[in-house]
Amino acid sequence: MKTKFVGAHVSASGGVFNAVANAEAIGAQAFALFTKNQRQWVAKDLETATIDKFKKALDASGILPKHILPHDSYLINLGHPEVEKLEKSRNAFVDELQRCELLGLDRLNFHPGSHLAKVAKKDKENREVMAPIEDVCLDTIAESINIALDKTEGVSAVLENTAGQGSNLGWRFEHLAHIIDRVEDKSRIGVCIDTCHMFTAGYDIRTEETYKKTWNEFEKIVGFKYLMGMHINDSKPPLGSHVDRHHSLGKGEIGLDAFRFIMNDERMDDIPLILETIDETIWKEEIELLYSFVN
Ligand SMILES: [Zn+2]
Ligand SMILES: [Zn+2]
Repeated sequence: MKTKFVGAHVSASGGVFNAVANAEAIGAQAFALFTKNQRQWVAKDLETATIDKFKKALDASGILPKHILPHDSYLINLGHPEVEKLEKSRNAFVDELQRCELLGLDRLNFHPGSHLAKVAKKDKENREVMAPIEDVCLDTIAESINIALDKTEGVSAVLENTAGQGSNLGWRFEHLAHIIDRVEDKSRIGVCIDTCHMFTAGYDIRTEETYKKTWNEFEKIVGFKYLMGMHINDSKPPLGSHVDRHHSLGKGEIGLDAFRFIMNDERMDDIPLILETIDETIWKEEIELLYSFVN
């Protein structure tokens, strides 16, 4: 019995059902996809025929819905400081959750949001509130999630940790915990940890000792019960650089040991482990490599 479910973020171009075939072609037991063009705000609704085709293909592949980690559009910022743009993001996020729902999927991965160095709130006399900018943004993100979960059913919102590039939040475990703490339905909130983002955010996992320390901290601050997926990437930039540049496994600053630890860590059992490494022509080999690490 396999306990690790490894795959990659595959193309869904030509229709979401193609993602299943693309995953199978590289020997994946899990996968990620965009259910719409990730660089556009609006997409046409999923047609019944498309949904049926997707479900049939999935059934035949043996890949389980819980091992699929759809990713939302890059345009969405659930912490946007401007009302109109926040509204647009919130609506688009609900649409993304509904698309997952229609496809029979149970989780949606997204980047928490960015404060863009603006304070979101004014007090009763319309004065700028001197609240810490990060806290205001994290509260806004949590509120966005609450609104979206209220309007949908069955799909969990899965926060991805970030590298902390620019004003992106979610790079510290405390950010993730802050948001989770304010989400009303704890049964539908989760996290996805990206190893590249974790590393460039300053969390080392390269040695047994640092791996243990980082994940102990994660357990203490966030909790493994919220871990609903991982992005398995090596990193071009060094530890703590706050730059988001993925690399192929073993070719970056993290190195292979960290991935060996993950493949033998039962806390990462039964969740999608998704490659977003830069050379998709070697995904098949990277998946084989990861499985070869299992003791
Ligand atoms: Zn990622
Ligand atoms: Zn990234």
